[in-house]
Amino acid sequence: MRCPFCGSEESNVKDTRPAEDNTSTRRRRECPSCGGRFTTFERIQLRDMIVIKGDEKRQPFSRDKVQNSLQIALRKRPVTQDRIDKTVSAIVRQLEATGENEIPSLKIGELVMKALAQLDTVAYIRYASVYKDFRDPTDFNDFLGEVQKLKEDGENTLTSIGLNKKKKA
Ligand SMILES: [Zn+2]
Repeated sequence: MRCPFCGSEESNVKDTRPAEDNTSTRRRRECPSCGGRFTTFERIQLRDMIVIKGDEKRQPFSRDKVQNSLQIALRKRPVTQDRIDKTVSAIVRQLEATGENEIPSLKIGELVMKALAQLDTVAYIRYASVYKDFRDPTDFNDFLGEVQKLKEDGENTLTSIGLNKKKKA
């Protein structure tokens, strides 16, 4: 495994342990050239999935991309890295379970939204406001209505980011 710091081809494994409910193996590595430390994950990949984008372009499914969308939506939110990793694994498992080799990007977006709705209301709104591409403010108001229904108990979060003010004008 190439060292991300100095590019050396060698690395020594210092520690190996199961991660994420035993669905992956985590290895701590150290580079003998520069002493840099980094972590790698080994996971089972059940099948090679292809993502079909809205413009019909195809690209290999990337777990990292799913992970990135979640990380961006959850930036500075009180959700642990471990929960994020598990959520990404759950999304990948759901996609694999469909048995399809070709996955519409829309489908992935929906799974990410669902997961975020359960994890963190603020992150959910962040992601959905980009993903749903609201055309005008009423769309957004309708959406917030849905969020309210979805998460009656998430009221405090909505209030904390000032999105809960204008109900029942
Ligand atoms: Zn190095």
